[in-house]
Amino acid sequence: MASELAPRPWSLAPGCARAHWRNCWTPSGDQIGRLAVDQALRVRGVPDVYATGDIARAYADDDRLALMSCQHALTMGRFAGYNTARDLLGLPLRAYRQPRYVTCLDLGSWGAVFTTGWDRQVEMTRGEAKQLKRQINCQRIYPPTGDRAAILAAAALDAGSGDKSLQDEIRTYFGE
Ligand SMILES: Cc1cc2nc3c(=O)[nH]c(=O)nc-3n(C[C@H](O)[C@H](O)[C@H](O)COP(=O)(O)OP(=O)(O)OC[C@H]3O[C@@H](n4cnc5c(N)ncnc54)[C@H](O)[C@@H]3O)c2cc1C
Repeated sequence: MASELAPRPWSLAPGCARAHWRNCWTPSGDQIGRLAVDQALRVRGVPDVYATGDIARAYADDDRLALMSCQHALTMGRFAGYNTARDLLGLPLRAYRQPRYVTCLDLGSWGAVFTTGWDRQVEMTRGEAKQLKRQINCQRIYPPTGDRAAILAAAALDAGSGDKSLQDEIRTYFGE
């Protein structure tokens, strides 16, 4: 009955519960339990289901797989939601792309290190980077609540892109 009532397609984002979900289909999982998806984030072999975040083995660019990280989960979630809705409406889908990558590593009382790029160029250290780390952990990883316009704006695929200043880069990575 549930399958008759469920709208199709739908998005799957169970995070660390991936092993259970993988067992539902087993079409295309990798050695750490992620489901292979195509560029639109559709599960390979199960085209009515979009996977996002930790459960999805998705390419962020031509060569790099998305990591199990907030940074990738947030952006993939936008794409999966967008494509699920577009699919329901019969509209063209958009390929998930996230070529830019940052890290912000907390090093305790010393401070933190913020890097950009997959080769991890150091951009910020110590107190300044620590402040950013706190901002990320306490604010940026949480979606807005309450205000409908703010929620929809945060879901926009291109939110924050286009400007190259460091603060804008950071905003881009976290989709602001
Ligand atoms: C201890 C720890 C520290 C981390 N630190 C960092 C960090 O510093 N930086 C970073 O980028 N990443 C970090 N990560 C990774 C990051 O948290 C994940 O990559 C990210 O949360 C993945 O998002 P997601 O939406 O895919 O999954 P999740 O955030 O795990 O969300 C999945 C949701 O689905 C729900 N769910 C599961 N099964 C079902 C079900 N059957 N029915 C309904 N709901 C279900 C879960 O309850 C959960 O709310 C950390 C992870 C851990 C565990």
